[in-house]
Amino acid sequence: MTSSKPQRNRLWLVSNRLPVTMEETDEGIQVQLSSGGLATGLVGLHKESGGGWIGWPGLITADGSLDEKVRAALSKRDLVGVGLSPEEHRQYYQNLSNQCIWPLFHYFNERMHFSEEDWECYVKINQRFATTVLAQVDTGDTVFVQDFHLMLLPQMLRDVRPDLRIGFFLHIPFPSSELFRIFPKRQELLRGVLGADLIAFHTLGYVRHFRSAACHALGLETRTSEVHIDGRKVHLLAQPLAIDADAWGEGNTEEEAAIVESMEYLLRMAAGRKIILGVERMDYTKGIPERLRAFREFLKQDPSRVERVMMIQVAVPSRAEVRDYVALKDEVDRLAGSINAEFGRPGLQPLHYMYQFVTPLRLRALYRTADVALVTPLRDGLNLVAKEFIASRHHNDGVLVLGESTGASWELGEALRVNSFDQADIVRQLERALLMPLAEQQARMQPMRARIAANSVEKWARTCLSAIRDSHSTDVRPLKLLDSQFAQLQESCTQIKRGPCQIFLDYDGTLREFTGQPLEATPTPEILDLLQRLVAHPHISPWVVSGRPAALLAQWLGHTGVGLVAEHGAFLRETGDSAFHPLFDFLPQDWRDEVREIFNHFTASVPGARIEEKEVGISWHYRLADPILGTWQAKELFQHLIEVLQDQAVQVMRGNKVLEVRPAGINKGNALRHILRACPSAPQQILAVGDDHTDESMFQAVDASAWSILVGNRPSAAHYRVDSPAALRALLRRLVASSSAAQFSDS
Ligand code: UDP
Repeated sequence: MTSSKPQRNRLWLVSNRLPVTMEETDEGIQVQLSSGGLATGLVGLHKESGGGWIGWPGLITADGSLDEKVRAALSKRDLVGVGLSPEEHRQYYQNLSNQCIWPLFHYFNERMHFSEEDWECYVKINQRFATTVLAQVDTGDTVFVQDFHLMLLPQMLRDVRPDLRIGFFLHIPFPSSELFRIFPKRQELLRGVLGADLIAFHTLGYVRHFRSAACHALGLETRTSEVHIDGRKVHLLAQPLAIDADAWGEGNTEEEAAIVESMEYLLRMAAGRKIILGVERMDYTKGIPERLRAFREFLKQDPSRVERVMMIQVAVPSRAEVRDYVALKDEVDRLAGSINAEFGRPGLQPLHYMYQFVTPLRLRALYRTADVALVTPLRDGLNLVAKEFIASRHHNDGVLVLGESTGASWELGEALRVNSFDQADIVRQLERALLMPLAEQQARMQPMRARIAANSVEKWARTCLSAIRDSHSTDVRPLKLLDSQFAQLQESCTQIKRGPCQIFLDYDGTLREFTGQPLEATPTPEILDLLQRLVAHPHISPWVVSGRPAALLAQWLGHTGVGLVAEHGAFLRETGDSAFHPLFDFLPQDWRDEVREIFNHFTASVPGARIEEKEVGISWHYRLADPILGTWQAKELFQHLIEVLQDQAVQVMRGNKVLEVRPAGINKGNALRHILRACPSAPQQILAVGDDHTDESMFQAVDASAWSILVGNRPSAAHYRVDSPAALRALLRRLVASSSAAQFSDS
């Protein structure tokens, strides 16, 4: 499919559902492209770039694979299919996506059903999408992932291809972080989507909620439109989806004729009455029963209104296999029947209820004929119907009554806004809309139409794409240490012919996972055993190079015999020694009282923050503080210290949830240089491992032939990286174990 096309800068769209319908005919499989919504905005762009659209074509197959004929038919349209089996469709799509994420994100948390099996399937299908995408992409390509079905995909792609430009658009609301935290896999979901360079939402409110969730659930630092993770900036954008206003505003001659015919039919049915219109999928988020009850109340207040007003409610069948949706349809059926029975008169039906899909052409006729569009979802990510109604009103008349919990209400301030949960408010706004003078209708409609016309769906797509490209960072990151490199590392570190090996290991976040309280991070038996094995190795000199005080390191690790560097390089204790000695003759301390006083001041206003007094430095820890308050105050504190201490021979350094002030010149890199200078002249192998910014000085202190490994994933001077302290320990264990046979024969 791609062989004759340019190989770079292509756009790959990824959505759960491909915008197609497929049909098997005598001439083979026919693929029909759908129009409207997202498809209209995006389909042209991927074509012009030479890329494609990846997604599920709507076919369920026994084993979840797609046969060659289907793939070939899709490929002719630059589409790539991902298959689903019946079980996968149920667990990934119906359950986890539609009955878990959908209700929760729309604030219907009592309807959320979560199960571990469904979650595992969601992970599996996201991985299947990742494999499919990775088989297509090339350097320089952009991948634009759509919606809540694929929230894990961005990070899965980044893990393998950090060079890709990755964007994500959420088409549903992002709920308040208070609600989001209910989701059992909240961290996984956030980490997954934060693999993108850019995450876009319909409104600024959703951006704010997302930022807050990232801060509270993952403890990440955020700015107004950024989240910082793994040393990367993930950009956040509010860019509401737009519509093709021209197409809704006017059609070609043939279409116009069909629209006019349809309008005439509607007008005959209305028999001179004003028309109120509701259009949506049959979904509990759309507030259809609530709206019908409000209409019933409107009629009840004055039953003669049936002579002047009628309502058309379109409800498109949706997710009809799900129990909640079946119950909803029953409720709406009953309500519609009861309204007509109670208020209908011969020849005058108050409610015309259509449980069916209406073609866009007929919808345009409905939009143009109605006097009032009553759009009152209880919660809606955006709501295209409201925008389409406005775009269709080419005489600038008509009134939009719009629920304030829709994303669209952010852009459509001139609409009559309503609280969709408040029946009396709906009735009031309905009366006001029906009585509104034409001049006011036009004064409200005109600016909304102009706004919708100015923001085309194509502009929406281009804005998102250029924001993805601008957000992509080209910083240099360490490469993931692969198995193939392990053999070389092992040879370097454990074979005598390569000379002795010095291994420098940071402690917190490197050998040992962080804990809430610094004093809880005592070495586990596994860590102690590992250090003892390293010490026992005849060719390895292991060091723990830490910011911790000397006494604590001696107490925790001294008995293993490992070499110790304390307080970021202020003190050193060699293997076999029982005491530390300072690496500096004189360390000024006259700044200390002033810094302590400043720390005390900030600690008083940040619950959970604490001060750690060390021999040469003082630290201010805020790991246990509220993440937003802690980060904010740490920034303030940092700026304050820089100003106050500018004439002093001290340095202020930022670590992982800690600020530390200590005399200038003390850093781990200088300690390493000192140790390496003191070593005998035999050729040395070096391995330096750390996670924090304070460990960068170690990576910079060793020359290019040394091994340097970052624990984590961020820009760094280290050459390689591993994911976690556990992964590092496993690597070190393997290093000692696999060399144990060879080491003694060598020596
Ligand atoms: N729509 C349609 N036929 C119908 C009802 C709706 O084509 O009978 C289209 C409508 O034009 C709009 C979309 O379905 O583009 C509904 O989008 P919206 O954002 O309002 O709600 P969603 O269903 O996406 O939650």
